[in-house]
Amino acid sequence: MLWLSNIVITLAMVIVMEIVATVAHKHIMHRWGWGWHRSHHAPARGVFEVNDLYAVVFALLAMALIFTGSQGIWPLQWIGVGMTLYGIIYFVLHDGLVHQRWPFRYIPRRGYCRRLYLAHRLHHAVRGKDNCVSFGFIYAPPLDKLRAKLRADHQKRRTKVAATTLMSEVSLREIEKE
Ligand SMILES: [Zn+2]
Ligand SMILES: [Zn+2]
Repeated sequence: MLWLSNIVITLAMVIVMEIVATVAHKHIMHRWGWGWHRSHHAPARGVFEVNDLYAVVFALLAMALIFTGSQGIWPLQWIGVGMTLYGIIYFVLHDGLVHQRWPFRYIPRRGYCRRLYLAHRLHHAVRGKDNCVSFGFIYAPPLDKLRAKLRADHQKRRTKVAATTLMSEVSLREIEKE
């Protein structure tokens, strides 16, 4: 039954990788790892982005695991195969479906693919690294929730700007009085 364990490990790794990628996207790529990820949030220039280096790092890690596993350290090779499978799904859904980095154009019109497409578009709706929503690549949170959060953040920023302008006007008046 070793083959069954291998399949279970591979599929479980896809789920684990989605969790790892979501957490890394939110807490690394949008924070201290922004240097590489910024290129993905900027208008496309050329075929490759600096952000692709993250995929290269994961690919190298998966290759090292498959190599070590095939030298006899089971189940490392299946962990590596699961990572590779996740990489393929990531490429098809994120690079292909959402960002159209393939040689044809296909915009999903309904169902899960449509929801994933729109959720990731909303991830790119905010300029810069702060206040973004939806960090997953396979899982898409409900669109209503994402829109509500974006709207609330936008409102908060507007109130803040209004408050600072008001403050500077007030202090200006105070200064003029003197
Ligand atoms: Zn991002
Ligand atoms: Zn993206």
